[in-house]
Amino acid sequence: MNKHLVIIGAVAAGTKVASKVRREDENIKITLYTKDEHISYAGCGLPYYISDDVKSKADLVVRTPDDFKAQHNIDINIKHEVTHIDTSSKEIYVKDLVKNTEFIVNYDTLVIATGARPFIPPIEGKDLKYVFNLRNVNDAVSIKNLIDSGNVNDVVIIGGGLIGMETAEAFHKRGLNVTVVELIDQILGPIDKDMADIVEEHCVQKGLTILTSDGVKKIVGNSAGEVTKIITNNAEIKTDMVLMSIGVRPNIEIAKEAGIEIGETKTIKVNSRMQTNIPDIYAAGDCVESMHIVTGKPVWIPLGSVANKQGRVAAINITGGEAEFPGVAGSLIVKVFDLNVAKTGLSEKEALKLGYNYEVVTIKGKDKAGYYPGNKNMTIKLLAEKESQKILGCQIVGEGQVDKRIDVIVMALTSNMRLDDLINIDFAYAPPYSSAIEIIVVAAMQLQSKMDKVSV
Ligand code: FAD
Repeated sequence: MNKHLVIIGAVAAGTKVASKVRREDENIKITLYTKDEHISYAGCGLPYYISDDVKSKADLVVRTPDDFKAQHNIDINIKHEVTHIDTSSKEIYVKDLVKNTEFIVNYDTLVIATGARPFIPPIEGKDLKYVFNLRNVNDAVSIKNLIDSGNVNDVVIIGGGLIGMETAEAFHKRGLNVTVVELIDQILGPIDKDMADIVEEHCVQKGLTILTSDGVKKIVGNSAGEVTKIITNNAEIKTDMVLMSIGVRPNIEIAKEAGIEIGETKTIKVNSRMQTNIPDIYAAGDCVESMHIVTGKPVWIPLGSVANKQGRVAAINITGGEAEFPGVAGSLIVKVFDLNVAKTGLSEKEALKLGYNYEVVTIKGKDKAGYYPGNKNMTIKLLAEKESQKILGCQIVGEGQVDKRIDVIVMALTSNMRLDDLINIDFAYAPPYSSAIEIIVVAAMQLQSKMDKVSV
């Protein structure tokens, strides 16, 4: 009889495992279960659907269960929740959420790709009408429909993280008055405050109201149960809609209950082959922790890019191959209005917290030759360890080609490069693409001279 691979979750990690396993093995039986209505959708594209840059919902849903069945002979069951895993009998308990029935399914290999869910704080008024989260296609459709109805002028976003700020831009583009309320003293928490301040100032210039160091105490509604205002520690803000964007929590409950080991970051612990501590059970995506390649410590950085790579590694190992997931560098990039904001490795606040003996430099420069038309400014903050001069991290904010620069630093971190290595790389150069000395090399040279206390 053919082996049976069962996968819980069918967005990034789950469908990646399924497709890759099918490419490697055409005989294995593959079944996926997901609570959601949609599968294989582009979560990362949701803000661009709200902004109307992406016009159709169909563009977000990369593939449907029918596509998977027809093209790959993979069975995807939507609106089915897995409620229990019995690791000794190798069975899962599944609830059909439409028929309200339960059944048991046997597996030979199980993949947990249950992802994460929005964190909803216990704020009074969180269940009022027009208070939203943004995690799945239905969330985005509800938000877009409300904006399309013309009944919304003001929106408050609780949380100025990456998704909060991407969506702030989307709302602004749709003509709404946007207020962002952020508990800590800066937006974009993963980057340093000095870099985030550049972005905040830009957002304010664009017309956003940003309230940092302020927490929402209460969401207030009218007699129809519709949101009308929020009350923060310092202000009362009239609003027609609220987006809660306070971060996500991993969906690990069924794994934990089944005795699957949970790591330091309170997400599923896996080895580099994406195996859990229970034989024949793998896990991938937003529900697992990864090793940080700079610190060597476990971290939880839930991202679609990572989920896809981990899914691929799990699939290769499931089908008898040898693959390892080496870890993450904490790389991220986000567009906020005209600025591109990127980070890889450690921020200064992370390096400080972890006790690194580091030196740091922040420089401003151009993405093309200064005399070449259309050149844009960018600010680069680069960190290296003092003794070894090993690169620890980099953050870049600017209008120009930030992505190219950050990806070079990602490669430098991944290859364990020192400042010298980066300085001597033979980068391609012509005026439309960079200065004769590439701006990240200028940053590396200034950082090195700061450490060596010599002039560049
Ligand atoms: P998920 O996408 O969370 O999917 C897990 C699925 O499993 C869900 O459908 C869930 O309902 C289902 N499930 C959970 N428990 C059960 C159960 N017991 N039974 C059945 N089904 C279950 N990442 C980037 O890298 N770059 C970006 O620019 C980016 N932008 C984003 C923007 C937004 C607005 C959002 C919401 C996310 C963004 N992300 C981005 C993150 C990215 O979408 C996620 O990292 C990715 O979706 C994770 O995939 P996953 O398969 O691990 O988990």
